[in-house]
Amino acid sequence: ALCAVCIALAAYVARAVTRPINSMSRAARCFAEGQTVDGLPLARSDEIGVLARSFFRMQTQIRRQLAELQLRREEMERLARHDSLTGLPNRLLFAEHVGRALTAARRDVTRLALMFIDIDKFKPINDNLGHAFGDLLLAEFSARLRSVLRESDMPARIGGDEFVVLLHTIQSEEDVMIVAEKIRHTINQPFVLEDQSLSVSACIGIALYPEDGEDLAELSRNADKAMYRAKENGRNGVAFFSHE
Ligand code: GH3
Ligand code: MG
Repeated sequence: ALCAVCIALAAYVARAVTRPINSMSRAARCFAEGQTVDGLPLARSDEIGVLARSFFRMQTQIRRQLAELQLRREEMERLARHDSLTGLPNRLLFAEHVGRALTAARRDVTRLALMFIDIDKFKPINDNLGHAFGDLLLAEFSARLRSVLRESDMPARIGGDEFVVLLHTIQSEEDVMIVAEKIRHTINQPFVLEDQSLSVSACIGIALYPEDGEDLAELSRNADKAMYRAKENGRNGVAFFSHE
């Protein structure tokens, strides 16, 4: 009987000694697998306690660094998809958005309109009033563009003075014309920047899905052609793509 008591006591002592070591190795495993480690023997005054507290600090620090990295990654993703001058979506984000819109329009059998907008005679504005003035004008123009569009209609800046807009769920060409005229009207309002007042115009070319193109490349080509027709017609105008 004494022997049995001795064996039980020895087993108990062995468990008591190895328990914190087990809990530390479990913690290391959890840590390696990216899981949160709970129940560390933080209060112990021996070497295991020192190890546990270091481990705890390391875990807190790594978690903070991961959160910072995530924020930076999100910021970089935002920068990669937006134009830094105007804050508008850039070509990449626009293309992603149009891809999704086309998939939905094919499924729901709805129509879309792609608008190409190019400011008239922007180069002389830059040359006469300076590049910085041109930049301010582009930023102000972008703000006006946003303000006349619905939340669902995505504008983007795709080049120097080139902008695009995708309009959703178009019922008729008149709907699109109303938006185009709103844009043209807002651009025609004088730009008052750096104590100067300047009248500006733009040309807008429009291609409709599905009749003028099945994908972004074809719609872009045709909206661009329509935009150039508006330029040829004397500028400050709107033109729909025509197959002729
Ligand atoms: P058009 O009526 O035929 O469009 O004439 P345009 O002078 O506007 O000609 P175009 O559209 O080809 O010229 C665009 C100009 O935009 C050329 C360049 O000087 C200017 N530009 C391009 N990027 C920027 C930019 O980021 N900031 C500023 N301020 N100007 C830019
Ligand atoms: Mg231009």
